[in-house]
Amino acid sequence: MLTPIALVAGAVGWTLTEYLLHRFVFHNPRARATLAVEHLKHHRIEGYFTPASEKASAAVVVIGALVGSGFLLGAPGFAFAFGFTATYLGYEVFHRRAHVAPPPNRIGRWLRRHHLHHHFKNPQSNHGVTSPLWDLVFGTYEPSPVVAIPRPRAPGWLLDAAGDPDPRYAAEYRLLG
Ligand SMILES: [Zn+2]
Ligand SMILES: [Zn+2]
Repeated sequence: MLTPIALVAGAVGWTLTEYLLHRFVFHNPRARATLAVEHLKHHRIEGYFTPASEKASAAVVVIGALVGSGFLLGAPGFAFAFGFTATYLGYEVFHRRAHVAPPPNRIGRWLRRHHLHHHFKNPQSNHGVTSPLWDLVFGTYEPSPVVAIPRPRAPGWLLDAAGDPDPRYAAEYRLLG
C-alpha cells in the first residue's frame, strides 16, 4: 500500500517543485543561477528553451539523490523517485509542446492558455505548467479566458497561413500589433 502512495507522492512532489522553482528561483530578480537567467531568456524569445545539457547537471543531482533514497527506503523510495522523475520528464515534453505544437484536446487547450497567460499577461501568476494545483493553493492563479500576445511572439501553432489566429483558437487569443 505504501508503494503506490509513494508513487503518487513523487508525481505530486514534482508538481510542487515545478511551482516553487518557477515562482521563487526562475522569476526571482536576485537569483543569478544559470537556470533563472535561461528561464527569462525563454520568456523573451518565443521558441527558446534551455539546452538539455544545462538542465541535466541539476536533474542528475536531484534524481540521483532520490534514487539513492530508494536504496535506503526500499520499494517506496524507488516508487517516489520514479513518480517524481516521470512527472518531471512529462513536464519537459508538455512545456515544449505548449509552445511548439497545437493542443491535442480540451485539457491541452486550457493548459496552453494558462501558461501563455503567465508568459504574456502576468509572469507573477500561473507558475504551474502541468497543472494549476499549486497556483490555486498559494493564491497565484489567474483565469485566462482570452490571452493577448504581441504578434511577432505568437507561437506558430496559433497562426494560420496569413499570420492571423487560426479560426479554431481565435476566440481565445488576441494578437497585438
Ligand atoms: Zn513557457
Ligand atoms: Zn516563467
